[in-house]
Amino acid sequence: MILGDIADSMARQVEAVGDTVSEAFFEPVIRLGVTGLARAGKTVFITSLVANLLDRGRMPGLLAQSEGRIVSAYLQPQPDDTIPRFEYENHLSALTAAAPHWPDSTRAVSELRLSLKVRPSGLLSGFQGPRVVHLDIVDYPGEWLLDLGLLDRSYADWSSEMLARLADREEAHDFLYATRAFANRDTWEEPDAQAIARAYTSYLEAARAAGYSDLTPGRFLLPGEMAGSPALTFAPLPPEDSAPRKGLWREMERRFEAYKSQVAKPFFRDHFARIDRQVVLVDALGAIHKGPRAVEDLRQTMTDILGAFRPGRNSFLSRILIGQRVEKILFAATKADHLHHTQHGALSGIMQALVRDAVDRAQFAGAQTDAMAIAALRATVEETLTHDGAPLDCVRGTLLNPDGTRGRMAAMYPGELPEDPARLLNPARQGQDTWLDGEYDLMAFAPAALRLKPGEGPPHIRLDRAAQFLIGDRI
Ligand code: GDP
Repeated sequence: MILGDIADSMARQVEAVGDTVSEAFFEPVIRLGVTGLARAGKTVFITSLVANLLDRGRMPGLLAQSEGRIVSAYLQPQPDDTIPRFEYENHLSALTAAAPHWPDSTRAVSELRLSLKVRPSGLLSGFQGPRVVHLDIVDYPGEWLLDLGLLDRSYADWSSEMLARLADREEAHDFLYATRAFANRDTWEEPDAQAIARAYTSYLEAARAAGYSDLTPGRFLLPGEMAGSPALTFAPLPPEDSAPRKGLWREMERRFEAYKSQVAKPFFRDHFARIDRQVVLVDALGAIHKGPRAVEDLRQTMTDILGAFRPGRNSFLSRILIGQRVEKILFAATKADHLHHTQHGALSGIMQALVRDAVDRAQFAGAQTDAMAIAALRATVEETLTHDGAPLDCVRGTLLNPDGTRGRMAAMYPGELPEDPARLLNPARQGQDTWLDGEYDLMAFAPAALRLKPGEGPPHIRLDRAAQFLIGDRI
């Protein structure tokens, strides 16, 4: 074990002891991680979850609520002084304004503490007064979990793998062209490194827009306060037999190692390792709309991301987790309000099938998992229209214009999702370009103007069931 790793595992042990002591003697803390790829719906999920836990009129599926045991819920200063607070109030006011709009998306890690005062259930209920349970919600980009694959890899290995993946991608053309000029050169200037890193970042951005999600390093697309620092100014370069000691290849290798130790590892150690419940949000409908390639890419990326929940896979992670593990993982297909409820079952089936490989492994590691279709914020109402003499189950809402402004009201029929997920996943695995037996149209909706009664949170679909699975057993 190298020195840095010993320090990592010692820091983690001290923290673990601290956690147990405070849990046993003081007030229990649930650390709920919320993750997913960009635009999966993390910000909207947390905002609506918190609003619905504060005003619980729409949360009958949360058992402690339907049993009348939640005495009160309130926000508190979070325990971690160095993590930005999740901007709950700003996000909620975006969603509840007179002309509501979607809030700004997740760009980095943030946290919020919500405390629940609950009466105990069962035998203890007669003897004990209410106790306080803290729910620490940690929001972080799923892209950052992809960095786990980097930690056990050398710069040469990572470069070869990335270059093989992007060789056939049109989006990588300019980047590949830029790298050619630097092969085997023994002198370089900082602007050269920056130009190559910029070209690589532009490739990652274009690849993401084209629907790819195998995009490492995870922090390049969401750099936060680290933008422009040397640890984020590198790119994969083709292997060199005897790379000059002062050449660009060696410098990129050094920066790659700095990224691993100073950017990627601290995230896993300080945030990821402390999570005990996790929800992974997936925009499965968005991928289905983009086509079979996007679905296959999503499936593979989910498998990569979820590798992080199987600590045995990675020696660094096993060390910092020391016996601690995520106890429950919920996979939630978001934005289910784009579908009439008659299709929600099919969407959860697709969600389940998408993460099956990864789930089998997580179960192996002892975590309890579930998959469901949810909408954190319901932006539509259901409507049955008559089309060619037959009833058609649609949803109706205010369309969102491409420039983000609110458009006209419209009814949408997104297509009939198959009951058997294999009918989507097989063509995706086989690399088909388009869906042959169906079309899946999707329109973006603006959030609906809300008129909430006292005690009611924003309208949602199955957010209460998601909360019951994630925290119900601890409150
Ligand atoms: P993040 O990048 O994971 O934080 O994603 P956001 O929470 O910002 O969501 C991205 C976009 O997805 C939002 O701007 C909305 O357009 C859409 N969205 C998210 N949740 C819902 C939902 O429950 N219903 C609908 N109709 N759209 C949603």
